[in-house]
Amino acid sequence: MHLTWPPDEAAALNGSRDDGKAAPGGSGQGRFDVVVVGGGQAALATAWFLRRTGLSFILLDAEEGPGGAWRHGWDSLRLFSPAEWSSIPGWQMPQRSGYPTRDEVIDYLTEYERRYALPVVRPCRVDRVQADGQGFTLHTNRGEFFARSVISATGTWRSPHVPAFDGADAYSGQQLHSARYVNAAPFAGKRVLVIGGGNSGAQVMAEVSAVARATWVTLESPMFLPDEVDGRVLFARATERWRAQQEGREIEQPVGGLGDIVMVAPVREARDRDALQSVRPFQRFTTDGVVWPDGVEEPVDAVIWCTGFRPALQHLAPLDVIDADGRVAVEGTRSVLQPMLWLVGYGDWTGPASATLVGVTRTARSTVAELVATLTDPPIHPAAEAKP
Ligand SMILES: Cc1cc2nc3c(=O)[nH]c(=O)nc-3n(C[C@H](O)[C@H](O)[C@H](O)COP(=O)(O)OP(=O)(O)OC[C@H]3O[C@@H](n4cnc5c(N)ncnc54)[C@H](O)[C@@H]3O)c2cc1C
Repeated sequence: MHLTWPPDEAAALNGSRDDGKAAPGGSGQGRFDVVVVGGGQAALATAWFLRRTGLSFILLDAEEGPGGAWRHGWDSLRLFSPAEWSSIPGWQMPQRSGYPTRDEVIDYLTEYERRYALPVVRPCRVDRVQADGQGFTLHTNRGEFFARSVISATGTWRSPHVPAFDGADAYSGQQLHSARYVNAAPFAGKRVLVIGGGNSGAQVMAEVSAVARATWVTLESPMFLPDEVDGRVLFARATERWRAQQEGREIEQPVGGLGDIVMVAPVREARDRDALQSVRPFQRFTTDGVVWPDGVEEPVDAVIWCTGFRPALQHLAPLDVIDADGRVAVEGTRSVLQPMLWLVGYGDWTGPASATLVGVTRTARSTVAELVATLTDPPIHPAAEAKP
């Protein structure tokens, strides 16, 4: 089947229609079979499958340009697997030397959108999704959109997690989450704590420890994968596990998974200069530092929180589907409480490895297949229905 959605619709909403008629005030209205909230890799992978259906759809993305969370990755960030293991459906990321850089991923996603003429409106932040008898109203900073179904693909970057620590409010030093970390230069010569034992913590510690007096604070000893295990091996293992699960088989695999530390080059280099020793957390903050478990107080200039993210689901609050743990109950990717709502790309709870480039394809495909089977009424043609 072919796309029924008119390809110039997003251009119009973006104020760049060929006929020179920008949407009034840059605001967008329209009725669609599907509105995808987000414009990162999960949204694009989903759109690739949607454009092969007869459904009308649009993507609403809060960013200024393509690339999703990769636009905010730190300067030295590289993928932990080669391009052929870091691609979304239809078109493989061009192979360059080594593991792709942050900018190469952004270039890939930018070109991907262009190649498939995906209808992305940006910047368009969805503030609230409300259900009515007919479907959903999406309230955005660009006006209202109406949809029979919603696919939320908003990732986690907009919801950085910082654990509660006694005294944190009174601490007057610098605090930064890895979501906003750019490079080590601002920390040169300072006393810094890098908090968090995952890949972000290891990579930030690797470069900050080269220029600052840095201590790595982790809940327990970090799990380092063997040097030869990269994303490609982890994805192969995840796929093997998934197959075995589907077939009801039990398999044995080496310890280590996607959350453990991949020994990318800067992390290996830091290990080789013995900079990756870690200590257990301090008791509390003081106004200018921390108190360690043995009672010793120490001044600290800056704390970098590499403590992960939570799903960015605030826009779904009016639907009353968000659990106490900040997730939505799903069967596969479909909301249990709101059956015309799907969630793609948030992590294992929305599909194994779905928060990775190569891993999101499987759940994007199954989501669109389920949605097509559910939307039995004739497709909406937004050009005919768009509000004046
Ligand atoms: C340090 C780090 C290293 C990583 N390394 C790898 C790797 O090597 N390989 C790999 O495959 N994966 C890696 N990942 C994981 C993964 O690929 C990313 O987290 C990925 O960006 C998730 O894609 P997404 O599309 O789900 O979310 P995002 O990329 O965050 O895209 C979501 C989009 O939705 C938008 N949005 C959010 N809320 C709203 C709203 N209310 N209204 C409108 N738009 C909204 C956002 O602005 C964003 O553009 C890494 C992640 C991190 C943090």
